[in-house]
Amino acid sequence: MSNNITFASLNLAQPLMRAIADAGYTTPTPVQAQAIPLVLAGGDLLAGAQTGTGKTAGFTLPILHRLTEKPAANPRPGRPRCLILTPTRELAAQVEESVQTYGKYLPLKSMVMFGGVNINPQMKSLRGQVDILVATPGRLLDHVGQKTLDLSGVEILVLDEADRMLDMGFIRDIKKILALLPKQRQNLLFSATFSDEIKTLSDGLLNNPGLVEVARRNTTSELVEQSVHLVPQRLKSHLLSHLIKHHNWKQVLVFTRTKHGANRLAEKLNGDGIPAAAIHGNKSQSARTKALSQFKDGSLPVLVATDIAARGLDIDMLPHVVNFELPNVPEDYVHRIGRTGRAGSSGAAISLVDSEEFDHLKNIERLIKHQIPKVAIDSFVPPAHLPAEAPRPPRPPHGQKRGSAPRAAGSGSRNQPPREGQGQKPRSPQQRELQPRNGQPTGKPRPPQKKAPDLQHLSEAARHQAMPQPALFSPRPAVRRGK
Ligand code: AMP
Repeated sequence: MSNNITFASLNLAQPLMRAIADAGYTTPTPVQAQAIPLVLAGGDLLAGAQTGTGKTAGFTLPILHRLTEKPAANPRPGRPRCLILTPTRELAAQVEESVQTYGKYLPLKSMVMFGGVNINPQMKSLRGQVDILVATPGRLLDHVGQKTLDLSGVEILVLDEADRMLDMGFIRDIKKILALLPKQRQNLLFSATFSDEIKTLSDGLLNNPGLVEVARRNTTSELVEQSVHLVPQRLKSHLLSHLIKHHNWKQVLVFTRTKHGANRLAEKLNGDGIPAAAIHGNKSQSARTKALSQFKDGSLPVLVATDIAARGLDIDMLPHVVNFELPNVPEDYVHRIGRTGRAGSSGAAISLVDSEEFDHLKNIERLIKHQIPKVAIDSFVPPAHLPAEAPRPPRPPHGQKRGSAPRAAGSGSRNQPPREGQGQKPRSPQQRELQPRNGQPTGKPRPPQKKAPDLQHLSEAARHQAMPQPALFSPRPAVRRGK
C-alpha cells in the first residue's frame, strides 16, 4: 500500500527534503509512508516497528516539520518542545544524531542526555536553546531533580522502543516523567511488540491514536544466510577464532548471553591475535562508545556484545553476525541476525550451538518457520589439549533460567522466560544483564547422556538436516583430535 508514496507526496518542508536527498533516501520506508502523514496531522500514534525499519526518520521528520511550522509559544533556555525517551544510551545518541542529520538545514537545536557520563556539560547545554531533547529516563529525572530542565513546554512526546523500556524496568520512571509534562501534547509510541503491558501504557497515554504496524521481522530476511555449527561449548571460542582467521572476516558482531562470557571471549580472541572488544552494561560509557566507533570504522574487527548492550545500535548491514550462544527468547534471534543482510546487501548469521541449546534452537526454528542448515566445518582441528569441562548443573524447570529464581507472575510480556534485563522487579542498569550460566542447580536432573562421538563423527552427524539428538555432544573430559 505504501509502495506508491514518495517523499515529495508527504509535503515535508524544503529544508527536510534537502536533508533527505543528502542522506540518499529515494523512497519512504513503509513505516515512514504511514507514520509521517499521521504525525503531521497532529494526532497521537501507536506504531509497531522495529529498529531497521526506518522508524527514527518516521517520527523525526514530521516532528521537525511541525516544530518549524509553529514557532515556540514561550521559548526559554532548557525548555524543550519535544521529548524523545529511549531505553539505552546508545539508542539515545543515535536518535539525536538522526535529529541532527534530518534537521541540519533548520534552526532547531537538539541535545542528548544519558547517564554514565559527566552531568556538567549537559547542564551547560541546558542553559541554551533546546528544542528537541533525546534522553534516557534516569538521567532525565536527575536533571529534573536538580531543576536544570523544564518540561513544561513539551508539545510532542515520543517513547521509542517502549517495549524495551518496560523490559528494562523503566515504567516507574516513565510515569514520573509523564506527570511532569503538560496535559495538552502529541504522543507517539513506538514498540516492536504489543504485550499487555504496552497496551496498558498506550491506553493510558494515547488519545485516539493512529495505528501503524509494519511487518514484524519474525520472518528472517532471505538475504541473510543462516547456518548452525554444532559444537560443544568448550570448543566454541576455538572454532570462532578458526572461522574468523580461516575466512578472513573483517567485521563480526558476536552475541553472548552473559557479560562475563563477553569479556572472556574478547580476551580469548585477543589472545589469538584477533582484536576484539566486549560491550555490556558493566563497561563505562566511554569504553562502549570507543569500541562501537572502532568497530564501525573497521579498525576493530570483532565486537562481542550482550543483547542489552547491542539493543538499538545502528550497526546494520554487517557482513557477519555470530551467535556464540543462542538467546533464550526466540525473537531475540531475529533481532540479532537482523543486523546483517539489510538493504540489499547479503550477510551471514552463524550460530554456534551446543547440545544444551537444542531446545532454544527448536523454538527459534518454530518461530522463523524453517530449519536452519546444520553445517559441518571440515577444516577445523580443535586444539590437542583442552581442560576438562566442569560438569554442568541440571537443567532448570521449564521457563526458568539456570541460577535464577522462579519468575514472578506477570513479570514478563510474552509468556516466555524473562529476557536479559527482565527480572522480578526493576533493577539498576548495572544489574540488568544475565549472570553467568553456572548458577545453583535447580529442578530436575538431566537424563543420562550417551557417550559423545569423536569429532569426525560429529561432523558427519552435523550434515544431517534433521534435529540431532541432544545427547550427541554431551560434555566429556577429553577430546580426540580430528584429522
Ligand atoms: P531505523 O529503523 O530508524 O534505526 O533506521 C534504520 C536505517 O535505515 C538507518 O541507517 C537509516 O539511515 C536508514 N533509512 C531510514 N529511512 C530510509 C529510507 N527512506 N531509505 C533508505 N534508508 C533509510
